[in-house]
Amino acid sequence: MEKRQVVIIGSGPAGYTAGVYAARAQLSPVIFAGFNSGGQLMYTTEVENFPGFAQGIQGPDLMMSMRDQAERFGAEIKYEYVTAVDFTQRPFQLWTNFPEGAGPDIFEKATPEELQAHLDAIRQAEPAMTAAAVIIATGASAIMLGVPGEDEFLGRGVSTCAVCDAAFYRDKITFVVGGGDSAMEDTLALTKFAKEVHVLHRRDEFRASKIMQERVLNHDKVQVHWNTTVSEIAGEGSVQQIKVVEDGEAKTYAADGVFIAIGHRPMTKVFQGQLELDSHGYVVTRQSATEAGVAAASQALEEKGLVKFPSMTSVEGVFAAGDGVDVRYKQAITAAGQGCSAALDAERWLETQGTVNA
Ligand code: NAP
Repeated sequence: MEKRQVVIIGSGPAGYTAGVYAARAQLSPVIFAGFNSGGQLMYTTEVENFPGFAQGIQGPDLMMSMRDQAERFGAEIKYEYVTAVDFTQRPFQLWTNFPEGAGPDIFEKATPEELQAHLDAIRQAEPAMTAAAVIIATGASAIMLGVPGEDEFLGRGVSTCAVCDAAFYRDKITFVVGGGDSAMEDTLALTKFAKEVHVLHRRDEFRASKIMQERVLNHDKVQVHWNTTVSEIAGEGSVQQIKVVEDGEAKTYAADGVFIAIGHRPMTKVFQGQLELDSHGYVVTRQSATEAGVAAASQALEEKGLVKFPSMTSVEGVFAAGDGVDVRYKQAITAAGQGCSAALDAERWLETQGTVNA
């Protein structure tokens, strides 16, 4: 069993940035990158809003560059999943084995009871590693519709982030699927560029906040299709059509872009029962932009009124950063910034424990 000072779980912008900072602080971090390292930007084409790349950069290139930067300073990257943790004792324990005959999809498919049984079974084995401090940067994944064409055209007309991709749809015909705040935000982002923005919603009323609804409903570029579900996204090479069922009737529309905005799922199932998660599964830290975060922060004030170790979770010594924490912004640059904060907090916390470079 390996013993490490800092283990980082996740390999998106938060994980790799935490890796750069922890490595430069000589904490010899290990980054568990999973089998498909790099996070959500690996499924993006051009990234135009990451500062420092005036001409834009391909998502996978940005992530490989972040990985190389972390490695350059001595971060060790393991292309494995962390499948269970024990945060009830220090040093913290981490496992990477799956139950016999099972793979990564067990976490997605399992009911909470099955998941608990898997985690308990995994923890019967010897842990793969122990860590004095852990940084969770496992991210979130966009919930997808599961219709034909969606996976095929992801990054080629299908997008899960209008803030990132709207500018590619100047004078184009676009569709947004969903009725929550994300869908409203995506719709408004698209109105700045697209010729037409169609909102497809499965019910006859939005769940988004009233103010966002009003902006969408009053915009002259926007057409809302109520009681409408998507049945297929089609095209050759890129998206050309969207097939829907609208008020019970099958219809096909010409489309250049389809934005899926039906929510995100934080990738935090392996932490179930080990630290505080909110009702959507987001990790609660002292800087979470939620009621739970405000409550945690108010209980962690130093004498001068500053929040101590803002990225710390409900478990002392476990920090979290990126989309698995961030209910609001979910941008690569905010995730990277939070990864930096988590690594600095971990370093300073380890100093208080007398374990830095021990
Ligand atoms: P959300 O509030 O959960 O809304 C998801 C929307 O997608 C709902 O309208 C839902 O329809 C629809 N939907 C879900 N599954 C679907 C499926 N399989 N097929 C078709 N439609 C489906 O998610 P969100 O909009 O991402 O927002 C998440 C949280 O972040 C919310 O609390 C939101 O307020 C917050 N947020 C805030 C801001 C902001 O303040 N600026 C921006 C974005 C998000 P139903 O309505 O029929 O269930």
